[in-house]
Amino acid sequence: KALTCAELRKLWIEFFESKKHLQLPSASLLPAGDPTLLFTSAGMVPFKAYFEGAETPPSPRIATIQKCLRTTDLEVVGKTARHCTFFEMLGNFSFGDYFKEEAIEWAWEFSVDWLKLDPKKIHITVYEDDDEAIQIWNKKAGVPLERITRLGKDTNWWGPAGDSGPCGPCSELYLDRGAHICKGPTGCGDPDTCKPGSDCDRYLEYWNLVFNQFNQDTRGQLHPLPRTGIDTGAGLERIVALLGNTDTVYETDELVRIRTKVQELVKESTGKMPEINDTTLAAFRVLTDHARSSTFALSDGILPDNTGRGYVVRRIIRRALLFAHHLGVNEPILHRLHPEVVSIYGSFYPELVAEQKKVHDILLSEEQRFLTTLETGVRKWDEYLAEAKAAKAKVFPGKQAFTLYDTFGFPLEMTIELAERNGMTVDLKEFERLMEEQREKARTGANWKDFKLPADFPISDETRTEFVGYDTLSDEGAVIGMIIGDH
Ligand code: ATP
Ligand code: MG
Ligand code: MG
Ligand code: MG
Repeated sequence: KALTCAELRKLWIEFFESKKHLQLPSASLLPAGDPTLLFTSAGMVPFKAYFEGAETPPSPRIATIQKCLRTTDLEVVGKTARHCTFFEMLGNFSFGDYFKEEAIEWAWEFSVDWLKLDPKKIHITVYEDDDEAIQIWNKKAGVPLERITRLGKDTNWWGPAGDSGPCGPCSELYLDRGAHICKGPTGCGDPDTCKPGSDCDRYLEYWNLVFNQFNQDTRGQLHPLPRTGIDTGAGLERIVALLGNTDTVYETDELVRIRTKVQELVKESTGKMPEINDTTLAAFRVLTDHARSSTFALSDGILPDNTGRGYVVRRIIRRALLFAHHLGVNEPILHRLHPEVVSIYGSFYPELVAEQKKVHDILLSEEQRFLTTLETGVRKWDEYLAEAKAAKAKVFPGKQAFTLYDTFGFPLEMTIELAERNGMTVDLKEFERLMEEQREKARTGANWKDFKLPADFPISDETRTEFVGYDTLSDEGAVIGMIIGDH
């Protein structure tokens, strides 16, 4: 039976209250006191200290609906049916209280009895050595063995979030959306070899149950936790999409409102309704997602900047404007999508309302600033691309990537992404060398009495540290100057 997002939020809390959980409100997207973590990327992040035993939770059982931001997924937004950068994670947690058996049984009960998902379409993956979990799924929940798959560490082992913390094996729940998905635009192509965990939207993962048994230290060493714990995370948008049988999460009742607004504004700006095809649809979804994630990030006080967390937000905003540009829109658009986001989510997330005026102003000025150079930047890019293609180059020159960055405000990752779409990599070594040269100039320049760095100077020199991954910041800096590649 189809549910709205609001109905699912209620159902989640109701179910876990019936299992004696305390409901807590969502924490900020800015992880409190954890400089090693870029953003709150999962429901367990605010509870790391409870799992580690460093702090005592207000209840041994907690349920939440947590705002999450995953920039690791930025580039697949619009390409898969299931990824957003911002999403809401439904979570239930046990701190030294219940363990595997209850976690599994309740996930099954909620899926089958409350959500009414067809049990014959639910597939389970377990960590390859976790015989205990297989036993419980099979004997207690009644899932036949042929629908239980053992998978390795890269999918069925969680954590830690940040440079250290709780971790352990996990079991995941997938719903089979049917073999036709394999042949669709976000499918793997081959229904015969497709299985849960494949890079395909057919078996859609909707819930991850983590059995926290270890604490991993900063050297990667595992230590048994004094008390085991449960950490689960289910995607709100994914479950609503599965129940409503929509093409992607972007057609669920709340996101589709933003998407409709996107289409309206594109029409208003260009004077005609854009043709609907795979490319424009992907662009609508990107704009939908980025409008939502920038609104939530800014409302939590994560402001555009040249380094660290703020850089990621700036990058989301600029990427959105690039996609808007491809749709023929060359004026600020995110600040006009923002009120729609506030009207959808403001009653559940009051910070959106409290910060509305401030966020509007920041969005607008950030958009205006980038748009002054975007059009010329895109022309430059086209020119550079034509040259590279004519030379049959496999590598896009670092010098040109640097010009796009330095003069036109293209985030490096945006250039990397554009290059990848054209079958090229970017000469990062050369880019890095020019960057260093720039920093050197800035250092000496800063000593000149009559020389002041412009406010939008692209780099602050003391803050660059090594790239460690989108969700992680290196120890020393708590900021990153650049983010290169994926992890
Ligand atoms: P996937 O393999 O599809 O990328 P994941 O294994 O990375 O998902 P988890 O880290 O296990 O996801 O997160 C728990 C749950 O949160 C997922 O089962 C899913 O329902 C939801 N989720 C994860 N990433 C996203 C995303 N980018 N957008 C929307 N929902 C997500
Ligand atoms: Mg993922
Ligand atoms: Mg997964
Ligand atoms: Mg998972």
